[in-house]
Amino acid sequence: MNLSEKVLSIEPSQTLVFNNKALEMIKKNYNVIKMTAGEPDFSTPEPIIEAAYEAMKAGKTKYTKSIGIDELREKISEKLYVDNNLNYSASEIIVTNGGKQAIFNTLMAITNQGDEIIIISPAWVSYEAQILLCGGKVKIVNSKIENDFIPDIKDIENAINEKTKAIIINSPNNPTGAIYPASFLEELSKVIKKHEIFVISDEVYEKLSFDVKHISIASFEGMKPYSIVINAFSKSHSMTGWRIGYLAGPAEVVKQAQKIQSHLCSNVNTPTQYAALKALDINPTYMIDAFKERRKFVSEKLNEANIDYFYPKGAFYFFINVSKYFNSDLKNSYDFAIALLEKGKVGLTPGSAFFAEGYLRLSYACSMEDLKEGLKRIINFTNNL
Ligand code: GLU
Repeated sequence: MNLSEKVLSIEPSQTLVFNNKALEMIKKNYNVIKMTAGEPDFSTPEPIIEAAYEAMKAGKTKYTKSIGIDELREKISEKLYVDNNLNYSASEIIVTNGGKQAIFNTLMAITNQGDEIIIISPAWVSYEAQILLCGGKVKIVNSKIENDFIPDIKDIENAINEKTKAIIINSPNNPTGAIYPASFLEELSKVIKKHEIFVISDEVYEKLSFDVKHISIASFEGMKPYSIVINAFSKSHSMTGWRIGYLAGPAEVVKQAQKIQSHLCSNVNTPTQYAALKALDINPTYMIDAFKERRKFVSEKLNEANIDYFYPKGAFYFFINVSKYFNSDLKNSYDFAIALLEKGKVGLTPGSAFFAEGYLRLSYACSMEDLKEGLKRIINFTNNL
């Protein structure tokens, strides 16, 4: 059968593949601890659920503008100003089905066949697939653990050529938990302005900046024409299944991105938009405090077991270096993740999903009880290798 070459060239999302593998085992009654997908274990806060319910009862069950209801975009505009020092009017914002669709709409709006988009490895799994689906080419710039997973500005500048259309950055970072310091973001903003490329700034882990205040690259002087800011409610308000996020960008980009949105999905489902409107009034500090406590616990356990890892400054992942355990049976991170799941009964995501062979990603967005048991099993598993 002659199917789309673009689609044949990509793999399903590995974060979700490993999550599904763990779920399948749980369904078969295996006692598996799941630390695969980045999905907070908390319930969505009650007032958010109520807001969706009230909206439905009030008849808010019809189409909305494809870019989203005015009230929500106005409130997002206010949030971007207050929290991030950004000036985007409501007409420069599109409400999307999660951060994923915000990135996809943006890439579709800016990418011509063969344009190069720079991503920083380790990189979240969906950037590459989305770039390829939009006809772009992926250019990878590596970041290293010894530099706290902050890429070298010179490597980024060297990767730029006449075909470069954009760079995607993600701070706080999935999968490493790195946070890019203001000095780095400022240097990068100069490079972006000099070469006149776009930056797609994925800020979905913004609220999970534990030790420093989150800074958006779009807030540096003169950056607005080059910046598209991506954000979502999934991680900040434990709303993964609601599928709601947004993009904010220069008017010309937004004008094109909204055409895509209108043809793809008309609008984000209406009650969810009212739920998100409520979410913007809620500061989920109890979740952030719990994540901090869990981060401390995981790091103490990994230290005790002498397992190498990067201490995360944000997001809810530990990036663990397991290369010292590789042997003829466990040749790479994929083998390791499969063995750990099948024999050790713990689900983690292999680093290969993030262009980072030798590592595994542990999501600590699960309960403390699961973390305790999961860490015990990981340590047992590695002790027996
Ligand atoms: N973003 C989360 C993760 O990396 C959820 C799954 C996904 O969308 O990839 O695990």
